[in-house]
Amino acid sequence: MTRLNGQRMDANVLVLGTDNVGKSALIVRFLTRRFIGEYGDIESLYTHNVVVDGREQTLNIWDAPYSQDLSSESLMYEKRVQWADGFVLVYSICDRASFNMVSRLIQIIKTNKDILGFEKMPIVIVGNKRDLHHRRTVLSEEGRLLALSADCQFYEVSAAENYHSVLMVFHGLVDRIRESRVSVKKLAGIKGIVKSMSAVFARRRTDSL
Ligand code: GDP
Ligand code: MG
Repeated sequence: MTRLNGQRMDANVLVLGTDNVGKSALIVRFLTRRFIGEYGDIESLYTHNVVVDGREQTLNIWDAPYSQDLSSESLMYEKRVQWADGFVLVYSICDRASFNMVSRLIQIIKTNKDILGFEKMPIVIVGNKRDLHHRRTVLSEEGRLLALSADCQFYEVSAAENYHSVLMVFHGLVDRIRESRVSVKKLAGIKGIVKSMSAVFARRRTDSL
């Protein structure tokens, strides 16, 4: 959920994708600027402060291990998705199955999250392991097209070789979360107007009885 701590905004970020695509590598690179190679499978929640466009932002980042069976784990997904304000969906450019999973994850997010009123989805799709281009099985254009059709942002990165592109992923997501908050506020405003108008009409009807 969105919270305001003084001037600082808090945002919850959920990182999802199949096993071995580099979710942990991406997060650790963002937090420490380092690539350490092996990460294990521990589920972790990190808190990190960043400054984006001159404004401080606290990110709570959840490194969620992948679960094979989406149907039996649907409740777990539901809760996580509801917790999150923004999503990083990671695949490996050398692993087509991991790319196919991204479309399913987008569907899971859309069914579990009230995204009505979002002008832009607070979702960034990341094609990782760009350094392994000789083993590429997913074209950049495919990632870009998927992001375009689902109204998400897209980056191709190498957590192993490049810090800057990883930074762009999280900054891009912060921008999108901020934009989605603005549009949700706008929608809440419209809902408020509709409510008060219908209250007026309801009163008129009872008055005339
Ligand atoms: P996770 O299961 O999605 O969290 O994946 P990990 O972060 O544990 O990474 C899985 C494996 O891929 C590890 O051996 C990493 O060293 C490797 N890896 C992660 N990112 C990259 C990358 O950008 N390039 C290359 N070549 N290997 C990577
Ligand atoms: Mg991991």
